[in-house]
Amino acid sequence: MNASDILLGGDDGSLSRSRSCTPNFVSFDKKIGTVSFVTRCTADAWNQKVKFENWDEIVKENPDVKWEDLKDEDIRIACDCPANLYWGYRFIQTELDIAIDLETRFPEKNNPQIEGVACKHILSVLRRYFS
Ligand SMILES: [Zn+2]
Repeated sequence: MNASDILLGGDDGSLSRSRSCTPNFVSFDKKIGTVSFVTRCTADAWNQKVKFENWDEIVKENPDVKWEDLKDEDIRIACDCPANLYWGYRFIQTELDIAIDLETRFPEKNNPQIEGVACKHILSVLRRYFS
């Protein structure tokens, strides 16, 4: 899945709430093909990671590639906020094979319908930097 696929899978609530967030680029680890962001929505700031699934091949083909030019590539995602874990998004990401941090516990209390795919922070990062 690429960023567009993930944005299409976002639930209405998270997509709507993501519009009040301000994502910021932090760093790019070229060794592992992972971009780090910090996003503030209301009071708290949380950390997101976007990891390029095919980074080894991408960088072999073009050693000088910039992460900003890879918006269509398949990615893995992570956010350390409570919503991403407790509302079942990390479980959904694991099922879709796009998780960086795996979670196998089904969210039977908070999201038994398995709605959405990512927290508002991740959606905010993907909209700002990958679409
Ligand atoms: Zn989050």
